[in-house]
Amino acid sequence: MNTDPRSLFVHALLHEHNGGNPIVIDQDILSDYDNKVRLKPCQWNGCTMHIALEHKHVAKHFQQRHGINTSATSEEAQKMSCLWLGCSDAQMKPGNIARHVLSAHLEVKWNCLTCGKPYTREDAFRRHTQEKMTCQYAKYFVSYGNGVIKIDTGCIAGGWSAGQNVLCIP
Ligand SMILES: [Zn+2]
Ligand SMILES: [Zn+2]
Ligand SMILES: [Zn+2]
Repeated sequence: MNTDPRSLFVHALLHEHNGGNPIVIDQDILSDYDNKVRLKPCQWNGCTMHIALEHKHVAKHFQQRHGINTSATSEEAQKMSCLWLGCSDAQMKPGNIARHVLSAHLEVKWNCLTCGKPYTREDAFRRHTQEKMTCQYAKYFVSYGNGVIKIDTGCIAGGWSAGQNVLCIP
């Protein structure tokens, strides 16, 4: 978490008021969601924030809060280890971290409504509809695994919500 004095102050207030650590999220999430947003705790290298379960937001979070160049996928990009709690995966390019985290750790899956098969990426589901005749008009639903927290961004004013115990940090 960043340590601007206002965030720390509100964090302490919320903790006091609710008797537990607030859910800390990136302020950017608010501009993309009008009401419900699904979150899970980020378990990257001791991070204490929550992240929205969408590739764009995972990538932004890793760029902003963990200093990872999430567009580095070129041949020359140095591979790095995943620092997610308990991850034993091989090294990967920084540009592939957000995808990896979304599927391996946040458990976001695209499920074919026709045959029931789960896919870890939307493009893999698209490929499936092109390759399997009986699924060519299939729709999908996205599943999010266990431990999802839903909050209502419409009830967050001034960067925090006492009722939901949520704090947004800039
Ligand atoms: Zn994090
Ligand atoms: Zn990992
Ligand atoms: Zn299918």
